[in-house]
Amino acid sequence: MREEDKPENRVEILTPQGLESSGAPQKMRMKKRSHCVRCGSCCKGGGPVLTKGDLPLFLSGILSHETAYTIREGELVRTEGDEEIFAAPMELIKIREKEGARGCFFHGEEAGCAIYENRPSQCRAYKCWAPEDLLTGLEKERLTRKEIFGSVGILLEIIARHEEKSSYGRLSAAFERLAQGSEDAVEEIMDALQYDTYVRPFLTERFSVPGETLDLILGRPLVETVNAFGFRIEREGDEYILLPIETEEQK
Ligand code: SF4
Ligand code: SF4
Repeated sequence: MREEDKPENRVEILTPQGLESSGAPQKMRMKKRSHCVRCGSCCKGGGPVLTKGDLPLFLSGILSHETAYTIREGELVRTEGDEEIFAAPMELIKIREKEGARGCFFHGEEAGCAIYENRPSQCRAYKCWAPEDLLTGLEKERLTRKEIFGSVGILLEIIARHEEKSSYGRLSAAFERLAQGSEDAVEEIMDALQYDTYVRPFLTERFSVPGETLDLILGRPLVETVNAFGFRIEREGDEYILLPIETEEQK
């Protein structure tokens, strides 16, 4: 008997659609999925988090630095489906999403996964019927920038300095103080933003780091991610201006 046909894998949901002849509410019978049917739905929600076991994919050229990015500790990220925003509890490296879309960079509507035979470990392990399994041991297993760039001391120093000047912990605290009316908070936010904006072209000009790799080395630009705090940045010449994002009701 196939796994999904076993009685323990059937789900019965009471529906308001009618009554059995006995008078009890009708039951809608469904089979609980117990194996992957390669429908690609999980790939449409975004790229996977990478683990230490995925490091050889960079070394073999299946993944490049341009196809991955860093979510920094404390960065505000959205859950799949955009229902909630939460602060990332730790640094995570992910495969990029497609430009202007949510799906994984490697997902094709017709062809499916372009690297299926070499897909990252999270893609192999993911079970949409038991998504919580994926979080088990993630803190220990996750890949970090230290593992990727460990042999390039100067990059690790630049990453550490960037965290010191522009960490999300510092930024969140400053936004909280701003909400309480502290004017100093604006200066602190702008300091963090300016450092993040300055260090990106510096890396490209001084060390010939390709622009597409910067989101992996430094995380996504603060001028973009600051939107999750309810603010946007406008540029006027060399000046940056911090403006609250108007909600639909405020417009
Ligand atoms: S894990 Fe689930 S959502 Fe993802 S491809 Fe397999 S069946 Fe589809
Ligand atoms: S790497 Fe492949 S399997 Fe994994 S999310 Fe992307 S398209 Fe899906």
